Amino acid sequence: MLNLSPWLDTLNRHRGVHRLSLHEKPSTDIAIVGGGIAGVATAAAVLEKTDKRVLLIEADLVAHAATGHNAGQIVSYFERSFVDLVAEFGPTLTTRGVDAIEQSWHLLHKLARFAGDEKSIRSCTGYLGIADPEKLRIFFESIYARHAAGLSTERVLLSEDAHLHDLLPRRMRGEVSFIEKEKLLALLGTTDERYIAAGVSQKGCTNSAVFTEKLVTTLLAHYPKRFRLIERTPVQHVILSKRSARLVTNEHTISAERVILCTNGFERFTIQNEGGAAIDPKFHDSLHGVIGYLSAQTYAQPSPVAAVSYYPFPHSPDDAYFYVTKRHWGAAPFGKTLICVGGADEPLPERMHYNPKAPFPKEKLAELRGFLTATFPTEPALQHYQWHGLMGYTQSGVRLIGAEPCNPALLYNLGCNGIGILPSIFGAFRIAALLSGKRLRPSIFDPRDQRCELPVRAKRPTLPFVPKASNVFIKPPSPNQSTR
Ligand SMILES: Cc1cc2nc3c(=O)[nH]c(=O)nc-3n(C[C@H](O)[C@H](O)[C@H](O)COP(=O)(O)OP(=O)(O)OC[C@H]3O[C@@H](n4cnc5c(N)ncnc54)[C@H](O)[C@@H]3O)c2cc1C
Repeated sequence: MLNLSPWLDTLNRHRGVHRLSLHEKPSTDIAIVGGGIAGVATAAAVLEKTDKRVLLIEADLVAHAATGHNAGQIVSYFERSFVDLVAEFGPTLTTRGVDAIEQSWHLLHKLARFAGDEKSIRSCTGYLGIADPEKLRIFFESIYARHAAGLSTERVLLSEDAHLHDLLPRRMRGEVSFIEKEKLLALLGTTDERYIAAGVSQKGCTNSAVFTEKLVTTLLAHYPKRFRLIERTPVQHVILSKRSARLVTNEHTISAERVILCTNGFERFTIQNEGGAAIDPKFHDSLHGVIGYLSAQTYAQPSPVAAVSYYPFPHSPDDAYFYVTKRHWGAAPFGKTLICVGGADEPLPERMHYNPKAPFPKEKLAELRGFLTATFPTEPALQHYQWHGLMGYTQSGVRLIGAEPCNPALLYNLGCNGIGILPSIFGAFRIAALLSGKRLRPSIFDPRDQRCELPVRAKRPTLPFVPKASNVFIKPPSPNQSTR
C-alpha cells in the first residue's frame, strides 16, 4: 500500500522547481530552512513585518513532508494537559502561551486571505468525545485549572443517563450541561454508546499542502525582489559565526545574516557554532520522532464539516486518542465527503531514520478501520487513502520558537508535537516580531540552554543579533526541567 495522502493527491502545482545556478554566490538577509507550513508562513510573516530579503531552502518540494501528510484538523490544543504545563513552566508562562495559540486563528485567516483562498480554512464547532470516567476526571481537572488561570474554558456536555453527578467536582457544577444521550452521540457523530461526555471548542480543517502551496506562490508573485525559493536543495551544514551564518549545500555556500530552522526537527545536517558553545548534539538529542498513521475514505453523500477527537474506552496511559475530520470533497455541485481518521501513532525508534516511502502497515490500517467501524456506520466508500508522516516532538512537548541562546544568529520555529498547524503560524509571527526588533515577553516557546542563558538582572550585552526577546531573561529552569 502506497503512502499517499488525499492532500498531495489533489495538489495542483503549477510552478517549476528552482535551484541555484552553478556559479552563483548566494547571499541573503534571512535564510529559512524547510518549506512546510512553518517555513512558508515564517517567510510570509518576515516579509510582511520587516524589509529583509528572504531565501527559503527546501530539501525536497514545498509541503511534501508533514504538511502534506497530516490530518488537517485545526485545533489549539497542546498534547500535554494544562496542569502538566503549569507544573513545568509555572502558571504565568503557561497561561500566556496557551492563550497565545488560542488567539492565533486570525493569523491563519489573514494568511489565507493574503493567498486569495479564505475557503481553505473551514471553521466549525469541534467536539472531544470521552468514553472513560477516569479521562473525564482528568479533563475536569484541566478545565478547572484553566478557569482558575482566567482562560476561557471548553463547555462540557454530559450524558443525562450516565450517572455522572457524583463524579462531578462541586466546583465544576456550573461548567457543565446535561443532555440526552442521543443528542450527545449525534453531536459526536457516533453510534458508539460508550461515550458519556463531550468537550466543545472551536476547531476546523484545512488541506495544509494546498494552503502552503498557494501561500508560497503568492509570496513569489508579491515579493519578486525580496523573496526567493529554492527546492530539491538539502542543506548539509549550518555554520554559525558571531554575526552571521553559512549554509552549505551540495554545490553552494549560502551566506545569511540569520538562519531559521523550520525543519520540523528532522533535518540531517550538522550545526557548527563558531560563535560559542556546541549546539549540534543538544539540538539532535532534544527532539524525537513519532510516526502518525492515517486513513481516509470518500463517500458519495455530502455532509457538513466536522472535527472531532475521541478518547475511547478504556483510557490509555499514554493518552492515545483518535481524531476525525469530515469535509466536502470535490467540486460542487457534485461534492462528496471525505472522512479522515488518525491516531495510530508509533514512536520512531531512537537514531532510526524515517522512511517516507515505507509501505503502510496492514495492522495500522486494521486499527484505524476498526475504530471507524465501531464509531460510525458508513456506506461503502468510493475511494480509499492511507498515509503516514513524521512528527517532531520536543522534550517539553512545546514548540520551539525563538533564538538559540548559544548563538542568536540561529532561530527555530519547529517541533510540531502532534499539533502543528496553528502553532507554526503563531511561531511565524513571533519570529517576525523578533526580527523586526520587538521586545517580547518570556514565553514557554523560548529555546533554553542553561549554558548560555544570562542570570536574571544581568546586564544585557550589546550583541548585534540579540533579539529583544525573552530568552535572555528567562528564569533558569528548575533541576527537573528540560535544559532546552
Ligand atoms: C501524521 C500526522 C498527522 C498530523 N495531524 C495534525 C493535525 O490534525 N493538526 C495539526 O495541527 N497538526 C497535525 N500534524 C502536525 C502538522 O502537520 C505539522 O506540525 C506541520 O505540518 C509541520 O509543518 P512544518 O513546516 O514544521 O514541517 P514539515 O511539513 O515537515 O516541513 C519541514 C520541511 O523541512 C525540510 N527540510 C528538512 N531538512 C532539510 C534540510 N536539511 N534542508 C532543506 N530542507 C529541509 C523538509 O524537506 C520539509 O519539507 C500532523 C503531522 C503528522 C505527520
